[in-house]
Amino acid sequence: MLRFKMMLTRTAMGWLILILTGFSPSSGQDHWLAGTGRSAITPTEPLMMAGYASRTTPATKKNIDLWAKVLVLEDHTGNRGVLISLDLVGIGRLLSQRVCQRLNESFGLERDQIAIFTSHTHSGPVVGRNLAPMHFMLAEESQQKQIESYADRLVDEIQSAVGMAIKTSEPSRVQWGNGKATFAVNRRENKPYDAIKKKRATGTLAGPIDHDVPVLSVRDLSGKLRAIVFGYACHATTLASSQWDGDYPGYAQIELEKAHPECTAMFWAGCGADQNPLPRRTLELAKEYGAELARAVNDVLAAPMPILQPKLVSTYDETKLQLQGIPDSEQLSQSAKSTNRYESSRAKILQKQLQDGGSIPDTYPYPIAVWKLGKEINFVHLGGEVVVDYALRLKDELNGTRTWVAGYANDVMAYIPSRRVLAEGGYEGGGSNVYYGLPGLWHPDSEAKIINAVHDLDEQVRRP
Ligand SMILES: [Zn+2]
Repeated sequence: MLRFKMMLTRTAMGWLILILTGFSPSSGQDHWLAGTGRSAITPTEPLMMAGYASRTTPATKKNIDLWAKVLVLEDHTGNRGVLISLDLVGIGRLLSQRVCQRLNESFGLERDQIAIFTSHTHSGPVVGRNLAPMHFMLAEESQQKQIESYADRLVDEIQSAVGMAIKTSEPSRVQWGNGKATFAVNRRENKPYDAIKKKRATGTLAGPIDHDVPVLSVRDLSGKLRAIVFGYACHATTLASSQWDGDYPGYAQIELEKAHPECTAMFWAGCGADQNPLPRRTLELAKEYGAELARAVNDVLAAPMPILQPKLVSTYDETKLQLQGIPDSEQLSQSAKSTNRYESSRAKILQKQLQDGGSIPDTYPYPIAVWKLGKEINFVHLGGEVVVDYALRLKDELNGTRTWVAGYANDVMAYIPSRRVLAEGGYEGGGSNVYYGLPGLWHPDSEAKIINAVHDLDEQVRRP
């Protein structure tokens, strides 16, 4: 009953906002309402870059712009979902909450109606307190102020892009398909990287990979392409640039928008935490991988694509994941003096938390969303840097290529290793937690908890 009431309220709110924004909705049952918006989010002031610790001076120049892009989808009953893609390394829990709060105040959107995707480009700016021990804590005070004001601007830019998308909503047809791109390599299983070309040529690259390229297309009723949303599971680390750059996802978006004028191309990162674009490190390669991905998307667009019925069901939940090895205050004092400056940064953040009367929780509220688009696509949004095992397992247990699994969504708080990768250890297994400021290591039951929570939400969205 409560659920029914909430749906009524949400539908009423949707109509009210449409009336306020001057858009007169169609009463048709056979199509979606869809609109797009965008804001450039390239820093306009010198700002520290995120993703690598090695760059210690602020960036001032750009190769290409970074974007916040938005697709608003509304089904025939007025249920609305907002997809936001950001050409950024990630977004932390607090900033993500600020964005959602603003979108709730401005447009009446509830948490489950908002999906925030980050491309994980390593040539973008530091985003608030994301990766704080590596970036915010080690930045000079003047830079910390710039980081804070960039985060404020980001909330404004996203709000403006969402407003634009709602205003431009029009009756639309939504379709889906699935392509392939092969430049992602399992980065844990193919070292040293200088043998990659030979291994690729001889078909001897090792380790699990996910080369799927899921594609969502949005056309107006005249057939004109208005939006493309596509995903790929691979780190955006072709470049270690000192200039703003969206890396291969940025170049793929540019290629697609060139090929389809007046269309908004949006990228979401899949479970590519243990995948690298290899070989890498030249601008030519970033463009080449972008072009390969765009070709895969264009191949899907050129073939017949099934139409998605205008029905959207969205869910969002936070699952408590257990952390182990939480330090006590004595251990924190030791770590704060560590010669490893990231270890020391993390300890100082946690000490401050205690001084401010807080505690160091031994669980983390891990965000999971499942959206059902039409009858066919179940779109899973996972937080953190998720390793490929999750996507492979979920596709296997759910609905194959009709199950889309995004990582780097809503809150990028750490790497999310599978039980296998956690046991193996290494950077993705827990070595990286210090850079994110996570106080301990994930418990071995984390994978089971995440998978079970996805199944629960998946069942919810399947109910008639
Ligand atoms: Zn990463």
